[in-house]
Amino acid sequence: MGNIEEFGKRLENLLKYGNIRGPKRTIRVTSVSFCPLRAALTTRYDVRFFGEKNKEKILGQVLHMGLLGLIKDSWPYLQGDIEANPEIEKEVSYDLGEGWLLTGRIDLVIGEHVFEFKFFSEFSYEKIPENLSDVEEDSVLNAYTEQLNAYLNMLPDAEFGHLWIFRHNELIPWKKLEIKKDSKAFKAFLKRARGIIELIESIENGEFPKDPKLRFNWECKRCIFRSICAK
Ligand code: SF4
Repeated sequence: MGNIEEFGKRLENLLKYGNIRGPKRTIRVTSVSFCPLRAALTTRYDVRFFGEKNKEKILGQVLHMGLLGLIKDSWPYLQGDIEANPEIEKEVSYDLGEGWLLTGRIDLVIGEHVFEFKFFSEFSYEKIPENLSDVEEDSVLNAYTEQLNAYLNMLPDAEFGHLWIFRHNELIPWKKLEIKKDSKAFKAFLKRARGIIELIESIENGEFPKDPKLRFNWECKRCIFRSICAK
């Protein structure tokens, strides 16, 4: 009887949601670039709003929102001969299969150009090289550039990525980096996203990883899961 009930549930889900598992679950682009266990726990328990936000983070968010609002309100002055309209905080998604979606929100899209704005305070600006191939392995820039590349690959008409980095208190971008669309790197990104989904599913089956693999060495210091993590 149990098997038939399970079959009924799967069929209902298939009819209602287009997959046997039920409503699609989402994993955010921004979490895929960091520690897989942290991403799995954050996604599984939806803890986006836990943990303390420091002054710098709040200031960064306010500046970020202010910049996007400024672009929106001033578009008639900024537009020049651009025909495309700006799309602010554009939601994008990619079907990962098995009832999972990869989702993200892009700061700004203008035609085939995708922009991401980052406000830094503690980061050592001198560590940002002119050439992206010179970025150190442990740099958070690797996370930001691969997120931008994910957006380029999730939007069918996007071609050019622009990462603008601001210092807090200065409204002129300190560095502007251009990113080329790279489908091979996106495949590796999707593989990591699927690895996080596997982790979520093993946590749901009562298995907690004993030896979590970090993405960047500095991540544990600020992680809200430190007290339950084996690392
Ligand atoms: S403490 Fe470190 S290894 Fe554990 S979840 Fe956090 S970032 Fe990952």
